[in-house]
Amino acid sequence: MAQPTSLEALIQALRCLPGVGPKSAQRMAYHLLQRDQQGAARLADAMKSAVERVRHCNMCNTFTEAEICDVCSSPKRDASLLCIVEMPGDLLMMEQTQSYRGMYFVLMGRLSPLDGIGPREIHLDRLQRRIRGSGVSEVVLATNFTVEGEATAHYISEMVAAEGIKVSRIARGLPVGGELEHVDSGTLAQALLERRSVS
Ligand SMILES: [Zn+2]
Repeated sequence: MAQPTSLEALIQALRCLPGVGPKSAQRMAYHLLQRDQQGAARLADAMKSAVERVRHCNMCNTFTEAEICDVCSSPKRDASLLCIVEMPGDLLMMEQTQSYRGMYFVLMGRLSPLDGIGPREIHLDRLQRRIRGSGVSEVVLATNFTVEGEATAHYISEMVAAEGIKVSRIARGLPVGGELEHVDSGTLAQALLERRSVS
């Protein structure tokens, strides 16, 4: 027996979510219709207004509802520093540290040639225009410490250095309050490698 047409359409639509196959899409649809119709209506409304309103900041590329986001339009930020992150969530994490007062550029991804994600897909042409003649004197690379994040940082560092601008990379390290026995050996090895003088 076939599902009602609109139910089938809902199941198909849910499959656009990452990691959601036909079975879990069906489970989600049944749950929404049987157990949480209000939640389903809220989800539909929130999705519609987010899709209509959210856009990318003209300067840093993060998600915003304005042409220029709050960070980029703040006169209190240090415009000579530009921090590069992969995703808007990384920008939020940096902001939560309350120890960075510069500007940002959000790549919205990372270089991944096998998935067809090259320099254009992570907006490096825009980044290059952003740093040219903008008063940026240092670019801080804060991409993830994954293979792809490192490759992306390396690529960008060469691009930025070619513009005659200083480039730095955030240091890997031990978590604050972390105990050595709970840290993976890769992190510990890196922390040892990037040790600094204390005297
Ligand atoms: Zn912005």
